[in-house]
Amino acid sequence: MTKTIPQSAKVVIIGGGVAGCSVAYHLSKFGWNDIVLLERDQLTSGTTWHAAGLIGQLGSSATITKLRNYSLNLYKQLEKETGLSTGLKQNGSLTVATSTGRLQELKRQVTTAQLFNVEANEVSKDQIKSLYPLINTDDVIGGVHIPDDGQADPVGVTNVLAKAAKEQGANFIEHCSVKKILIQNKQIVGVETDQGKIDCEYIVLASGMWS
Ligand SMILES: Cc1cc2nc3c(=O)[nH]c(=O)nc-3n(C[C@H](O)[C@H](O)[C@H](O)COP(=O)(O)OP(=O)(O)OC[C@H]3O[C@@H](n4cnc5c(N)ncnc54)[C@H](O)[C@@H]3O)c2cc1C
Repeated sequence: MTKTIPQSAKVVIIGGGVAGCSVAYHLSKFGWNDIVLLERDQLTSGTTWHAAGLIGQLGSSATITKLRNYSLNLYKQLEKETGLSTGLKQNGSLTVATSTGRLQELKRQVTTAQLFNVEANEVSKDQIKSLYPLINTDDVIGGVHIPDDGQADPVGVTNVLAKAAKEQGANFIEHCSVKKILIQNKQIVGVETDQGKIDCEYIVLASGMWS
């Protein structure tokens, strides 16, 4: 049964993929309790559904590494809190280099990762072969092994974030499509949906490639 839309909300989040659900979770966690998330179809029905779900902690910058490490720990914590599974499997990752420039870059990323308590180990060609015997190491000159990296189920991750957000008061409405963002005096004042209007102070545009 379709849920009735509210007449107003402080924040309207457009899109129920992993980004929209994560924003709903984090806003509600930080005390924003008048939030409505609108999804035109079902949660995860956009690109999130197709994602491979690789969870790698090594980022190209310190900020990305910190964010990825935060996400991994959040998924583990939310599994315990919600009782739902994110499908997380920490089976480790190997990143290999076939040039000295790339190896240098990986070494720099390892140093950054260690600053954020991410276990990241430089590995030799022989160690790579022993960790993953199927690999052809002819051109490989070295690499990095991160034991706690892995994979998760993107649908599971999104549902866990959504459940935790709902438990903190966020309102999720599926099968409700936003048709127009309403603006007055250069300010957002609401959204027009296929089920009526919602007045709001803020919108979060999390509609992915449909934005
Ligand atoms: C094959 C594949 C593999 C991938 N693998 C990885 C990976 O291993 N690791 C990784 O980090 N990323 C991966 N990605 C990328 C990742 O899937 C996306 O970056 C991520 O899912 C985007 O999430 P999102 O919430 O921004 O968008 P989406 O999941 O697309 O969510 C947008 C939502 O907005 C809704 N929407 C659109 N218009 C409206 C409207 N007018 N009103 C209401 N709702 C609306 C849509 O229905 C949709 O549900 C992969 C992507 C693909 C396709």
